[in-house]
Amino acid sequence: MNCQIICVGTEILLGDIVNTNAATLSKELASLGINVFYQTVVGDNARRLEKSIKDALVENDILILTGGLGPTADDITKEVCAKVMGVEMETDKKQLDRIREYFSAKGVMMSPTNEKQAKIPKGATVLENDNGTAPGFLLEKDKKIIVCLPGPPREMKPMFENKAKPILEKYSSSRLVSHNVRMIGIGESDMAHRAGDLLGSENPTVAPYAKDGECLLRVTAKADSVEEAEKLCEETLEKIFKKFSKYIYGVDVNGIEYAVVRRLREEKLKVAFAESCTGGLCAKRITDVPGASEVFECGVVSYSNDIKNAVLGVNKHDLDNYGAVSKPVAQQMAQGVRKLSGADIGVGITGIAGPGGDGTDKPVGLCYVAVAYEGGCVCREIKSARKDRDYNRITASSAAFDEIRKTIDIIIKRGDI
Ligand code: ATP
Ligand code: MG
Repeated sequence: MNCQIICVGTEILLGDIVNTNAATLSKELASLGINVFYQTVVGDNARRLEKSIKDALVENDILILTGGLGPTADDITKEVCAKVMGVEMETDKKQLDRIREYFSAKGVMMSPTNEKQAKIPKGATVLENDNGTAPGFLLEKDKKIIVCLPGPPREMKPMFENKAKPILEKYSSSRLVSHNVRMIGIGESDMAHRAGDLLGSENPTVAPYAKDGECLLRVTAKADSVEEAEKLCEETLEKIFKKFSKYIYGVDVNGIEYAVVRRLREEKLKVAFAESCTGGLCAKRITDVPGASEVFECGVVSYSNDIKNAVLGVNKHDLDNYGAVSKPVAQQMAQGVRKLSGADIGVGITGIAGPGGDGTDKPVGLCYVAVAYEGGCVCREIKSARKDRDYNRITASSAAFDEIRKTIDIIIKRGDI
């Protein structure tokens, strides 16, 4: 089964909005084992939309369109689809009642233009909209299927997931399962080299990816059922776990902060951050994770030397002698915030994010990440060699989470808790 995604909206063409609908749908369709060879964006123009649909129908069995289901004159998707498929539009009584109820529940008068939203192509299956007024539909004719979904992602996503997907599943004979093995502390080329033959396997396939100082291997298997695809993945995952155990922080996790929060919760440990160059990014990332309050005590953004000294107790002489970006200062920041907060683990981060230097001969991208715990304090030096401020800050914050992960292992091994 081949499918083309057509996203309708002039604002996507103008670059005013990012086409997240295409990405969401491509992922979903891949998991259904439906091939997506093309994604198209077309403006709110009936002639060009008609041409796009006709062209797409030549090579594809399924077309999925998003956007243009609203009540206004520039919302033309349904009408154009009906025209191309050679069917009439008709008012769906149930949908009209639903739209009326929607407005009366809100205590607002329904505009006559909203009646247009209850019209769907004759013979189509209605996909009800639980999060808005515009219903979607699935129309099958002459072995071709057209699915129309609303533009707003918060309406589109649940409609696809709950209403369209169960129908489309029946058209696909295979299932795709993917697992992302996420790693830190290893470069992409080193990872690819060590993965060796695994990268050449056909089912499952193993693909390497790298982003912001992290790497991942994606294992994807295709089979007749999800269970069989999972089985195919298992053996390859085992091999990957064996080769990369030192670097793997999680499988199918959103990011290292999620893996760290989970471990801290399991071990009932708390953490606090003293951040300089990352400017609170670690605190932001950890509080992105639901349930962070159980493990996160506080974050101090100690940008100036005076605050490093006054709040965290970093020695003035060390600040003068070694400079703010130095191992002793990072360690004292970690110890200081640990003492200040009473957390089990204190983290200190100080570095030169760039693009400019700090007036010394220290290179841009140099960063120290220290982790203090009962009876010890480790410090890692990072040299990114990049002048990219965002990159240096994100990699420094990821390194901090990586060091927390390793520190938890040390604490557990020593039986401190
Ligand atoms: P409405 O009833 O809101 O008009 P609609 O189904 O007619 O919905 P559009 O008018 O095409 O949809 O888009 C409405 C909004 O949905 C856009 O302004 C945009 O915020 C979002 N949107 C539309 N298409 C996409 C897309 N492909 N990716 C991400 N967001 C989108
Ligand atoms: Mg619209």
